[in-house]
Amino acid sequence: MKYWIDTEFIAKPFTIDLVSVAVVAEDGREFYVESDQVDWSKASPWTLEHVRPQLAGGGMSLETMSYALMDFTHGDEHPVFWGYFPAWDWFALVGLFGGLEELPFHYPQLCLDIKQWAIELGDPSLPEQTSPLHHALNDARWTRDAWTFLATLHPEGAPRRAHGRKHFGPLAAAPKGAPPEGVL
Ligand SMILES: [Mg+2]
Repeated sequence: MKYWIDTEFIAKPFTIDLVSVAVVAEDGREFYVESDQVDWSKASPWTLEHVRPQLAGGGMSLETMSYALMDFTHGDEHPVFWGYFPAWDWFALVGLFGGLEELPFHYPQLCLDIKQWAIELGDPSLPEQTSPLHHALNDARWTRDAWTFLATLHPEGAPRRAHGRKHFGPLAAAPKGAPPEGVL
């Protein structure tokens, strides 16, 4: 099943403070959670102005968020994650579990990028988002809508998925500190 994701976060060099996570599933289900562990003293004026006022409040621990997300995708052995410029979103989402190697076993290690697909197709204008931006659930729904738009332009590209893991073969089995033969 496909899942369109978005997060809000506070990003500083080498750290990321996850604020909220939204996931919209291909079957119409929606997942939205907020963290109660955000250190707002690190937030920029922009984040305080545009992100914080849209939050529902309350929230839960990052650990509880990770279990909730696993519940949401439970039973799906072949999830495919899509985002829009998702590098930071994916980093934040993966961070809920501790890292790429700690992801639930059936999760791919890669989130596919709406923008990259658009570039492959000549970078057409994507549909405008009419809901308030910078709310993770609104943004995740828009990501699904943008995907749907691209899928109408390029139906044969729509079933793509991320297979496997980042490291494979001899590199995956290499002892720490010793690159495998043939790997520079
Ligand atoms: Mg967003």
